[in-house]
Amino acid sequence: MLAPHAPVQNHLLAALPRKDYQRLLARLEPVKLTFGEVLYEPGKTIRHVYFPGTSLVSLLTLADGHLALETGLLGRDGMVGIPLVLGHDESSVRALVQGTGTAMRMASAHFREEFRLSLPLQQELYRYAHTLMAQISQTAACNRFHVVETRLARWLLMTHDRVKSDQFRMTHEFLGHMLGVRRVGVTKAAQALQKRKLIRYTRGDITVLDRGGLEAAACRCYEIVKDMHDGARAGPAVRKPQVSAAA
Ligand SMILES: [Zn+2]
Repeated sequence: MLAPHAPVQNHLLAALPRKDYQRLLARLEPVKLTFGEVLYEPGKTIRHVYFPGTSLVSLLTLADGHLALETGLLGRDGMVGIPLVLGHDESSVRALVQGTGTAMRMASAHFREEFRLSLPLQQELYRYAHTLMAQISQTAACNRFHVVETRLARWLLMTHDRVKSDQFRMTHEFLGHMLGVRRVGVTKAAQALQKRKLIRYTRGDITVLDRGGLEAAACRCYEIVKDMHDGARAGPAVRKPQVSAAA
């Protein structure tokens, strides 16, 4: 069990009133999530929910049982296990650890009890469920309409926001699965971003060199989802108007 005064890495947990967080803490267990670890499989019962700290988790939608495409990405901004919030105990996606790091987990039975008891936890998780759905539907459109280079830039920005480090590990092969393209497509897109001096990419180590340039290179999907996420976190009073669906 963590000390009650340890810094809270996960944003959803950090947003809870102190007494609600203290209650949860008794049932939360700190864990290390490792790259490649599968937390959920489609159609299988969810045994734990996870609040990532420094770890990153990809939500993959499967087609024909073996083709997987990333439709959601979360880290300290979210929780893995949203079906439980919506009254389901099975996952519809594969949840795959994409970045090794810390997380807090709770058994599903305990989570259901705590969720019933804490109104602030309900509010945080309903808000988050909405932004996650927005991210998933925007990603569906993005995968269909936008070219690999702009999607790669978007994906790098989303990762950069969550890991809070300019450097992270990611192989071409894994990135290909995330973006739903062949390895050679990832190589070409990464080379193009490298040529523009936005990133450095050597043997699976990505370094973000120019964050502003990367934002300019990404499709608008990045900004649309981020605005929605920031707006939800700030509450309805200061929510920004919805950005137009320009190309
Ligand atoms: Zn896009």
